[in-house]
Amino acid sequence: MLAELRGINEECGVFGIWGSEEASQYTYYGLHALQHRGQEGAGIVSTNGNGLQVIKGEGLVNDVFSNLKLDDLGGHAAIGQVRYSTESGRGIENVQPLVFRSTTGSLAVAMNGNIVNAAELREHLERQGSIFQTASDTEVLAHLIKRSSGSLTQRDRVKKALSMLKGAFAFVILTEDSLMIAQDPNGIRPLSLGKVGDAWVVASETCAFDIIGAECVRSVEPGELLIVNRDGLHAERFAPTADSAMCSMEYVYFARPDSDIEGINIHMARKRCGKQLAREIGDIEADVVTGVPDSSISAAIGFSEESGIPYELGLIKSRYVGRTFIQPSQSLREQGVKMKLSPVHQVVNGKRVVMVDDSIVRGTTSKRIVKMLKEAGATEVHVVIASPPLVSPCFYGVDISTDSELIATGRTVEEVRELINADTLTFLSPEGMLDAIGRPDTMKNCGQCLACFTGEYPTEIYADTVLPHEKEIGK
Ligand code: AMP
Ligand code: SF4
Repeated sequence: MLAELRGINEECGVFGIWGSEEASQYTYYGLHALQHRGQEGAGIVSTNGNGLQVIKGEGLVNDVFSNLKLDDLGGHAAIGQVRYSTESGRGIENVQPLVFRSTTGSLAVAMNGNIVNAAELREHLERQGSIFQTASDTEVLAHLIKRSSGSLTQRDRVKKALSMLKGAFAFVILTEDSLMIAQDPNGIRPLSLGKVGDAWVVASETCAFDIIGAECVRSVEPGELLIVNRDGLHAERFAPTADSAMCSMEYVYFARPDSDIEGINIHMARKRCGKQLAREIGDIEADVVTGVPDSSISAAIGFSEESGIPYELGLIKSRYVGRTFIQPSQSLREQGVKMKLSPVHQVVNGKRVVMVDDSIVRGTTSKRIVKMLKEAGATEVHVVIASPPLVSPCFYGVDISTDSELIATGRTVEEVRELINADTLTFLSPEGMLDAIGRPDTMKNCGQCLACFTGEYPTEIYADTVLPHEKEIGK
């Protein structure tokens, strides 16, 4: 029964704009900049105040939209999403934004995150007669909005619906007369507010502002609902702020180096993580430092600067292959690593190499790279990881899966080192990571979610919570 109630993975990037006649073009460029957050589907919904127009499809932003198609998306406001999904969450019906049409007005919704009480809410809504078209958590919000009391204003219905959700969610909602933006009470997924000319924009990452020449105004606050309409921007709360818990993995891996999250630049944070790691290791005898492209380069530069060991281009990544995780099966993932990375023999041959990676999830990448570097002639490979060991699953929309798949769960660092065949293996300490990101180094109230490193979750986790990657349709 529960399986039938399951949704799908919601890991992705969102964008929204209100107040520009080129709203859908801006959204297209914004989604381009957010492409690293999901490559399996993209969609844009726009409005000119009279109905909602929608274009969406599977694949990359470029594949889904052409100039011709964008011309069909007129209007002064738009929202968009790029999505990542596991095999089970594929299919055009799950590509967002989802559009709901009714006689009382249409609604389009896109989300980044994962609602941990979605199964419970779905069951409740179905008992009341709701019929779901998709397996997405996003649809739950739409039904909650539509089902709440008709005597409430639209704003109050949205607030009431949002207050029933638990978990991590960054929403963009478009109606014919407003753009609404909401951030969960812990502020787990990043969401920033900006301005381009007179238009308000919102995006998962600030790199989407740079590409359209928008200025970042501020982060959307935890528990905040922003409403943009003809009268301008109006901020209110749908929930009191809980302990702030921004996802640490955004700093470690997800976000683009040129983005800022809560005012902290990602490249600089990663570089400081690398420096901190070098300080924690102390003396290390090696000839070159190399980073696993692209997400580890910043940390590798920091490690090199602090340790005094020269940074070198020891690994090259093919530009034309997506991220390893995008291929969902383990065998395909392994093949992906092979297709993606090549060693630079002249750099590593006969050298003691420090290989910096941002994280170890299943261990596939590190194991393969150690082997690759040794085959290319490296005499020693010291693996240094710019984050602590990942030991617990993520319930908030990131594909960090079950404990059994995480190589560090239930193993000592020495056991993991043996499995990946490294000469030495060192992880960054959680305190060191917080300090390097720029948070207080107390683990409590640090403003960061650390659940996948510590197993301590910032929200309730329901007995029937379904991991995002396990969510399947009709299984
Ligand atoms: P693995 O090979 O399973 O150990 O994965 C580690 C690699 O995946 C690292 O090089 C990271 O850059 C990257 N990575 C870390 N977390 C994630 C994630 N949640 N989704 C996709 N890739 C990730
Ligand atoms: Fe991010 Fe980890 Fe928290 Fe998930 S559990 S939101 S990946 S820090």
